[in-house]
Amino acid sequence: MPELPEVETVARQLAPQARRLELIDPMLRHGAAPRVAGRPIEDVARAGKRVVLRLGPRDRSGRPLWIAVHLRMTGRLLWIADGEPWTRERLRARLAVDGGALLFHDTRRLGTLTWSDAPGTAEPAGLDPMSTRFTADAVRTLVAGSRQNVKAWLLRQDRLTGIGNIYASEILHAARISPRRKAGSLRTAEIVRLADATRRILGRAIQLSGTTFSDFQDTTGSIGSYQRFLAVYEREGRPCRRCGGPVLRLVQQQRSTYWCRGCQR
Ligand SMILES: [Zn+2]
Repeated sequence: MPELPEVETVARQLAPQARRLELIDPMLRHGAAPRVAGRPIEDVARAGKRVVLRLGPRDRSGRPLWIAVHLRMTGRLLWIADGEPWTRERLRARLAVDGGALLFHDTRRLGTLTWSDAPGTAEPAGLDPMSTRFTADAVRTLVAGSRQNVKAWLLRQDRLTGIGNIYASEILHAARISPRRKAGSLRTAEIVRLADATRRILGRAIQLSGTTFSDFQDTTGSIGSYQRFLAVYEREGRPCRRCGGPVLRLVQQQRSTYWCRGCQR
């Protein structure tokens, strides 16, 4: 199965007609999938891990449709020709076209898929922590008034994008903020620490995931080479790497949060 560069080549050479966009992961279903039948794939543009497909109009009076896929850490776009085997495992969306299909696989489900009939607006709703728009001031605006605990807030993809359960614990530990705090209660100095920790930790995770779009998290659920950097995640009962106190586990929204009472306030 060829990966992204080959997908771009295929799209350019064949300009296949789309048949159907199937949103398999419920997390992607923020509205009914757009009808794509009869639209030719006219262009595939890529900026880092963001891929934008331009589908031409069905007829001369119609408008194009843009589909933006942000691959984040573990997303992959694969092209399969008709008749080639493919798997639904970790498959989040499938765009069937004449002659084959584009598959969006994503182990950790942090990637996004959005669509729009206006160029440039097929963006994910939340702020990307790796973008230049991500600043402590921007975070302060986003948390203002939130009564949600800060751990749950970090996982919302409509505020900041790309933070999963592992990194939410790690970010809060690095920022010395208790996961129980209300997001809206954070003071300026804490928001600055939160923004710094978010960028530092996600940056390192992305770096370690390499540039190959290969699965960062393997099938056993371990997270490869980042594991040796984890300060609290899945370290319940072991000493905090900063203060030596025990790492605690807490369940928030049915998901584990790991933290240290000694250094997170
Ligand atoms: Zn500690």
